[in-house]
Amino acid sequence: MIAEVIVNSSAQELNRIFDYQVPNDYVVGQNIDIGYRVLVSFANYKKLEIGYIVGFKENSTFKCKNISKVCDRAFDENKFEVAKWMARRYFCNLSDVLKLLVPPGTSNNIDKIKTKYERWVRLTSNYKDYIKFHDEEKKNYKIKSDKQQKVIDFLIDNNEIPVAILMDVVGTTASVIKTLEQKEIVESFPMEVLRNPFLNKIVKRTKKLDLTKEQQEVLDTIKLDTFKEYLLYGVTGSGKTEIYLQLIEKVLESGKNAIVLVPEISLTPQITDRFLARFGRVIAILHSKLSQGERFDEWRRIQNGEARIVIGARSALFAPLKNIGTIIIDEEHDSSYKSEITPKYDARDVARELAKRENASLILGSATPDIRSYYRALNGEFSLLKMDKRISSFGMPEVTIVDLREELASGNKTMFSRALYDEIKKNLENKEQTILFLNRRGYSTFIMCRNCGYVVKCDKCDVAMTYHLTKNKLLCHYCGEEKKNVSICPECGSENIRYFGTGTQKIEAQINKIFPEASVIRMDVDTTQTKNAHENILKKFREEKIDILLGTQMITKGHDFSNVTLVGVLAADSSINVGDYRAAERTFQLLTQVCGRSGRGDKKGRAIIQTYLPDEFSIQTAKSQDFLKFYNTEIKVREKLNYPPFCDIIVAVISRSR
Ligand code: ADP
Ligand code: ZN
Ligand code: ZN
Repeated sequence: MIAEVIVNSSAQELNRIFDYQVPNDYVVGQNIDIGYRVLVSFANYKKLEIGYIVGFKENSTFKCKNISKVCDRAFDENKFEVAKWMARRYFCNLSDVLKLLVPPGTSNNIDKIKTKYERWVRLTSNYKDYIKFHDEEKKNYKIKSDKQQKVIDFLIDNNEIPVAILMDVVGTTASVIKTLEQKEIVESFPMEVLRNPFLNKIVKRTKKLDLTKEQQEVLDTIKLDTFKEYLLYGVTGSGKTEIYLQLIEKVLESGKNAIVLVPEISLTPQITDRFLARFGRVIAILHSKLSQGERFDEWRRIQNGEARIVIGARSALFAPLKNIGTIIIDEEHDSSYKSEITPKYDARDVARELAKRENASLILGSATPDIRSYYRALNGEFSLLKMDKRISSFGMPEVTIVDLREELASGNKTMFSRALYDEIKKNLENKEQTILFLNRRGYSTFIMCRNCGYVVKCDKCDVAMTYHLTKNKLLCHYCGEEKKNVSICPECGSENIRYFGTGTQKIEAQINKIFPEASVIRMDVDTTQTKNAHENILKKFREEKIDILLGTQMITKGHDFSNVTLVGVLAADSSINVGDYRAAERTFQLLTQVCGRSGRGDKKGRAIIQTYLPDEFSIQTAKSQDFLKFYNTEIKVREKLNYPPFCDIIVAVISRSR
């Protein structure tokens, strides 16, 4: 039997099938099949190459080498079909896609991630032979060492146990255990352990809530057991997540499994907590902030059926989940669903291909749907589900727009308008929490010589460098390059250097000055480098020890803090003037999402948007949180200018390697 093999390589000329002989002791359908990974010797390379079996045939026209080693099964039929679709649609090598289907960390080295073992101990099967007994029934024994006796007593009652725990509970030492081992009274053995990303996490279990009429109708509309696409458009706080939870409960009851995609890593602690609280450890999470070992083990829990709900970033679509009943994409408008690295893909389209083949329902949810998705829903491609009421009886937050030009004219040069200042004061007095949003990190955003106009730029990227206070250095936000501060102009020697622009670090310093009584926590790329940083910041804020959460994009979506009653957008304009046909859409989404963090609990919420462009329609419609109005205007603009969804745009990037 001949196996058709795709070799793991992104070289274009190797993007084809190679024939290999199946070893004699392998039978197709039993211990080898389509989707298995193999090691093969290739060309005259010394190292064996990883390959994927994609088909079989009786004979080959070539003289074929033997497969050197048969490894694990990486994908099933459905995933393979989706992979072929992706390779065609996104112009990449099949192996670039197949790489996504293998356990994390193993795409270039199958054995790289090791299963983790712990040392356990138990009594040997004939331990009684080595102990002196005082009675016939071999019950009362006494050995010389009290310490050793304690361990034996414990093991008689408790069977087997990890060495570390034994030492802890009995208060014994490694040398005591070792002595017992030498006497052949106990033996140690390796036991496989799974690295658990939820270790030490205590989450109170929740029961399903009684749905509102609006929610119940939506849930009843979603069909199980058949491929169908839905766009769930529900305003912020309308209870979409609760619908996801109850839908999944139904799916699990029917014996099927579920995938939930969430856009950003900062969102995952909260949403995974909600899933963990409802379902316990039948969930698995997959995202880049986990260690490779943790991801590997979560993957295996999915593979062996222990985990039935997969929650993660876009790549969670490729998890080895069988029998998928539903795929949910939360905040479907989010740009992180598009992969900009090879293979480049749109997770929403890939999810559709997978759902089709699994006969699953596909649910795209958002308070600010992608224009393209909404257009397709109106054209009947998706079934449109709407929820326009908040669960909280206080309704949507009251949004005010502040014209920064007027502030400046009246002599206010700070980043806090009088209106925003007053509202923050009020919140501090009432012990309610505030979220402040600014889409620029760092301290000053560019450094310029006022004498000659020289701007400090990154040598590699030619973009202005940002001053970072905590590091006391200049940083390139493109490539991470660092430079020393400048106080003398390298061009003209002038000392007239000024730091312009405002980033989150500077705002933090200003808050400390203007509101000395307030506690502030900052969340941006710089404060969230370490593994649990996001989670710790959000946890602190949630436990209401902090008055003000200040941050970039990552604070704008998904969070549900019931005590937040004020949201301030410090400068709404930064996303309007970018040269992209989606600038208005992005601005509307961002502002609506961030304002939507306000007033989600049992108090009315307010939001203040500061801007130099108060008449901009994306800002005006965000003020009224009116997606339909925004959509109706924007879709006309798109049609007139012939932009998507009325055409397709392809970006061709030409780059030279450095
Ligand atoms: P969304 O995902 O649309 O932003 P959530 O599902 O987070 O909305 O719901 C907003 C808040 O309302 C949450 O605190 C949630 O626990 C609560 N909630 C949702 N559905 C119900 C319900 N049926 N009854 C009571 N509270 C609910
Ligand atoms: Zn750079
Ligand atoms: Zn100069």
